[in-house]
Amino acid sequence: MCCVKRLRYAPKLPIARIRRLYQADALRLRDDDLLTDVGWRLVARCADVLMVSASQARCPECHACFRVPWIGQPPSLVSTCPPCGWSVTAGEYHDSWRHQDLWGTNAREPLGAFVATYSQAASYEARMLLIDRLINAVHTTGGRVARNLFEGRSSQVIAALDALAVDCSQAPRDG
Ligand SMILES: [Zn+2]
Repeated sequence: MCCVKRLRYAPKLPIARIRRLYQADALRLRDDDLLTDVGWRLVARCADVLMVSASQARCPECHACFRVPWIGQPPSLVSTCPPCGWSVTAGEYHDSWRHQDLWGTNAREPLGAFVATYSQAASYEARMLLIDRLINAVHTTGGRVARNLFEGRSSQVIAALDALAVDCSQAPRDG
């Protein structure tokens, strides 16, 4: 089966990348490369969380997105990519993303808004604002959505997001 193309997903982001971006921004040091890297990796990860949460797959042959019914379905049920005919079973599809924190139905609204608007944000400030809006939304929803996007233990990610929120408001807070 070595030649069979498999479904692939964008990886989570290390929270340290986000922290570096915020630290640079707080010092008025514009790191465009870092912003570009973080921004597009977030877009790719958010898009894949949204895709899986909508029971869709991206075809590894032609990159078309198509629906793969799997909830309550037999694992052997085959779904076929309409443009090219590549196919995957419900069981293979579920196995391709389980334990990767890609199921995020609570995350649809903030992730959807981020993906829809980020590519239109042309300036450093506009992109930073959208990233900050996403980070704030993730922070306020607690651990679940953070786990969809960021690497690391939940408690560490939440602690890092707490620290970013303090940085942003410039307000000291008692722990
Ligand atoms: Zn296809």
